[in-house]
Amino acid sequence: MSASVAPSPSVGHPIGLLAELTHRCPLACPYCSNPLALEGREGELDTSAWKRVFTEAAKLGILQVHLSGGEPAARRDLVELVAHCASVGLYTNLITSGIGVTEKLINQLADAGLDHVQLSIQDSEPGSADKIAGYKGAFAKKQAVAGWIKAADFPLTVNAVMHRANIARSAAMVELAVALGASRVEIAHTQYYGWALPNRAALMPTRAETEAAVADVEGLRKRYAGDIVIDLVIPDYHANYPKACMGGWAKQFINVTPSGKVLPCHASETIPGLEFWNVKDHGLDDIWHGSPAFSIYRGTDWMAEPCRSCERREIDFGGCRCQAFALTGDASATDPACYKSPYHARMTEIADADSSGQPVDYIYRRLPANAL
Ligand code: SF4
Ligand code: SF4
Repeated sequence: MSASVAPSPSVGHPIGLLAELTHRCPLACPYCSNPLALEGREGELDTSAWKRVFTEAAKLGILQVHLSGGEPAARRDLVELVAHCASVGLYTNLITSGIGVTEKLINQLADAGLDHVQLSIQDSEPGSADKIAGYKGAFAKKQAVAGWIKAADFPLTVNAVMHRANIARSAAMVELAVALGASRVEIAHTQYYGWALPNRAALMPTRAETEAAVADVEGLRKRYAGDIVIDLVIPDYHANYPKACMGGWAKQFINVTPSGKVLPCHASETIPGLEFWNVKDHGLDDIWHGSPAFSIYRGTDWMAEPCRSCERREIDFGGCRCQAFALTGDASATDPACYKSPYHARMTEIADADSSGQPVDYIYRRLPANAL
């Protein structure tokens, strides 16, 4: 461990930690937000290292830990890690594909103090869902897992990532979430980084499909008000303003990769030249206050025009740095999702070209067999 970094009084404390326990996953979703260079089992932090991270997270003021992956159930120590999080006072949310999850594991997690479960569903139509996941039988298995989650009395959120193959069933995804007993459903239009960027031509829906899907979901909000919370993650390529990515760079969240690299957001490794510190070498507090990758785009001082003088700079923080880099080659540029960006028209052209092209096969997200 290095010497500690003096905390800056202007930097608050994070509220959430995304713990990518592993990149191993039985599914192969072509929109997966994991990096193209997936980390194998050999490099994963061990149980004691993750426990230290969670203890440090609680001391740093973090309230919620999202146990994610890959598929977190691929870790044999998942129950032990949940119990440790509970013992240090962290609220725990399991983000799972459901594959590899058994009824026994759900009940063990309940006993260990897990607070909440998010289950991903690829489509409301079984054949399409299995094709998107690259896993035969995934849809049926997820129905069973949802039943076990509800039987164990967990609050359930259904995560649905929308794209060309399922966008016509956005409303059906909400209906399915209601039928599964979810209290919240997140309809998230694909964000084009990680595996989604090379799959963009296979995933991009048309503007008309996107607008119809947004209208369908908005309509269901009224019908199901009081029964289920419907969150909508906007489709950037058809937007006029960007989203406040991560609630602002290094403002609220910390992401720890399976090998212990600490990132301001799960896609930030796509930006070349950033220096990420590792929990093997530094405490979480030092990383939050001193890591160059956290400091570089924190706040608003780094912004150029048009963001620098914009009245929305403290609302959306100039959008997503990873998307800015992917589309302009400059991570400090205004996110092209914003209509004020000089690249905004280019983004619209890309969306129109990708959504109207010939069908393209998915590049499935898979780890090599020797890394599982
Ligand atoms: S998006 Fe799909 S492939 Fe990626 S971790 Fe989640 S379930 Fe696995
Ligand atoms: S110019 Fe920058 S701060 Fe203003 S709306 Fe666009 S992205 Fe947001």
